Amino acid sequence: MDLNKILNDLEAKHPGENEYLQAVREVLESIEDVVNENPHFSTAGIIERLVEPDRVLTFKIPWMDDEGNVHVNLGYRVQFNNAIGPYKGGLRFHPSVNLSILKFLGFEQIFKNALTTLPMGGGKGGSDFNPKGKSDAEIMRFCQGFMLELVHIIGPDTDVPAGDIGVGGKEIGYLYGMYKKLAREHTGVLTGKGLNWGGSLIRPEATGFGAVYFAQEMLATKGESFKGKTVAVSGFGNVAWGAASKVTELGGKVVTISGPDGYIHDPEGISGDKIDYLLELRASNMDVVEPYAEEFPEATFFAGKRPWEVKVDVALPCATQNELDENDARNLVENGCICVAEGANMPSTPEAVHTLQNNKILFGPGKAVNAGGVATSGLEMTQNAMKLAWTTEEVDAKLHHIMKSIHEACVKNGTQADGYIDYVKGANVAGFLKVANAMLDQGLI
Ligand code: NDP
Repeated sequence: MDLNKILNDLEAKHPGENEYLQAVREVLESIEDVVNENPHFSTAGIIERLVEPDRVLTFKIPWMDDEGNVHVNLGYRVQFNNAIGPYKGGLRFHPSVNLSILKFLGFEQIFKNALTTLPMGGGKGGSDFNPKGKSDAEIMRFCQGFMLELVHIIGPDTDVPAGDIGVGGKEIGYLYGMYKKLAREHTGVLTGKGLNWGGSLIRPEATGFGAVYFAQEMLATKGESFKGKTVAVSGFGNVAWGAASKVTELGGKVVTISGPDGYIHDPEGISGDKIDYLLELRASNMDVVEPYAEEFPEATFFAGKRPWEVKVDVALPCATQNELDENDARNLVENGCICVAEGANMPSTPEAVHTLQNNKILFGPGKAVNAGGVATSGLEMTQNAMKLAWTTEEVDAKLHHIMKSIHEACVKNGTQADGYIDYVKGANVAGFLKVANAMLDQGLI
């Protein structure tokens, strides 16, 4: 495979789409050996076909705020690859959303979904709409406008979106309500639904729980566990909340959370009532991080900083892409951190990943570590299709089993001659082989 030619061609076709190009480069670098050993992939043009989405829908969403002012936002759905199942991936509502970010997320989703062992292809969507500070009525009008366009390309066997940053249970509810009205059917077309209307138990916490189950397996390869470990978590959204709860349950102590403006350090641990307090703040659509330090005086707010300067045993970046750079990685290494597991998608820059791996730190990439979210979405789809609901214990056991099997796939495909497990390579190779072989089987389409 001529890696550089493929990357250069892609860059020429999509100049400035930096996050997308970064994600493609990372995957291609780690599958290079396996592609070279299997020339039939190149003959069939698998790589060139895999790196471009099947299609992208872009549209506008005009909506009216509570004062009667008109706003126009952009909406997207990237249907990347459906070789192993219907397109599946979240919707992100955040001002930073653009095509490059959604293509990077959709591309990553292909491999992540393949790793889950469930039949799901890769996709992603969203809008530059910012739900922060909006009233429920404004969010509802926006979601309804968004669905007026999205409805044309989704369906329970075609494309099944879910939540992501800025899209939680409330937004999924408004989106689903409009879909149901337009499509005149009650099917499992979105996941992350409310429990009373098709949602799965554990789905809200699944990404964070799964990330901690995966990190638990990573630690076990060194004979370690979460018991007694201090843990830095970034963000305080859906993923961070689930991760913080599960770390606490396993005997670890979460000492940080963060937001775009800075981070909180609470040396006494963020658990129990403190998590409940944060959830209340989040539900009120307010900034979650800074008020924490006013409520709990043992905590300190560090404005404009990231949590990676705190001395911890384990780091779980759970906020957003490129939030842990080379400097942060160096700080973690120097402070004795032994494991970094990405709850978010691509939170570590490529330089940070190299620093962590060169220092033989256990490093788990998002596409493996945070796959528990989409895996539980897959379990929600199964329950919807069977028209039944599993118990908390059933869903949690299936999630735990899936995370263990993803870890095994990474170990199988990523263990190096010196015994170090390259989880990035392991995840990329395992996910790629499954999708590439399915594409070969299905011919040139
Ligand atoms: P949420 O919107 O629920 O939470 C995001 C959190 O990150 C918020 O606390 C937000 O703070 C914070 N944040 C945003 N930007 C920054 C920044 N620049 N620095 C520090 N903190 C920041 O999103 P999710 O928890 O759902 O998603 C988080 C990550 O996990 C994303 O990368 C997402 O793609 C990934 N992911 C999510 C899955 C899911 O099931 N939800 C599944 C798999 C991956 P504030 O609210 O103050 O803006």
